[in-house]
Amino acid sequence: MEKYRDIFISSFTDYGSYLWREVLNPSWGNYFYWLLGLSLFFWLLEILLPWRQHQAKIRQDFWLDGFYMLFNFFLFSLVGFNAISNIGVEAFSDFLALFGLNNLVAFEIQSWPVWAQLLTLFMVRDFIQWNIHRLLHRSDFLWKFHKVHHSVQQMGFAAHLRFHWGETIVYRTLEYIPLAMIGFGIQDFFLVHIFATAIGHFNHSNFHLPLGPLRYLLNNPQMHIWHHAKHMPRKYGANYGISLSVWDYLFGTAYKPENGRDIELGFDEVEHYPQSFIEQQWHPFREGRTTRKKALLEEQQELANATAGSVVK
Ligand SMILES: [Zn+2]
Ligand SMILES: [Zn+2]
Repeated sequence: MEKYRDIFISSFTDYGSYLWREVLNPSWGNYFYWLLGLSLFFWLLEILLPWRQHQAKIRQDFWLDGFYMLFNFFLFSLVGFNAISNIGVEAFSDFLALFGLNNLVAFEIQSWPVWAQLLTLFMVRDFIQWNIHRLLHRSDFLWKFHKVHHSVQQMGFAAHLRFHWGETIVYRTLEYIPLAMIGFGIQDFFLVHIFATAIGHFNHSNFHLPLGPLRYLLNNPQMHIWHHAKHMPRKYGANYGISLSVWDYLFGTAYKPENGRDIELGFDEVEHYPQSFIEQQWHPFREGRTTRKKALLEEQQELANATAGSVVK
């Protein structure tokens, strides 16, 4: 138990000093400055070559999403995820040790060239995330959390990282085992992470880039905007692609009926969705309760009406 407590405490202090070091030392291998640089790059594109020209340069919820970027990219790890996941990973390897296993590696690809390992990691991870994203739309419970991302009503690059911290837990937990099964020789997933962040910013940006046939492979703003459409013909939505659009074309979940530049975004009654960061963090936990309460009230009302009706009769 003491071991887990030590891991928990050192996770906070380690990550705290790591974050501080990142801010103080700009370099090419620095997450903090890459996030800042990519954000400025896509903001500049939105200012110089906007797809929706009437949209304000500092659009609705620009600062809220800016804070989400900082929170989801850095602070959440600092506040809790790093500690929880370090304990989870340690507990999981202790559990494997009970069966005499050191690791989960089922496919050895360490001898491959680095570029092939990076490409495999990128594609496998993206396919797993495409599946997790579908799950977020299909499970009523998970959808409550994913709604935070879909509450965006005016699209821009920073909307990419507006999501509930619960999503980070779902994604990292579900992708852990399949990724651990592939014995990557590379320790540093930096390149893949930065590349995926750049495509995520691009998908959400107010920018039009005709990709030609490449659009069947790479996700893009003209496709991802339909994922955010308020009115979808399919109950669980479409275009679940994170970095790649190819999975949606392969599995029949692609949807792009027309130019989606000015479509309405969100979901039913998005106008009544909480607007502040704190409220959005609490809402998924309360939503179920208020809906259940509402259903109960409606049921009671119906019962009362039925009884009143039978008395009149
Ligand atoms: Zn979604
Ligand atoms: Zn999105």
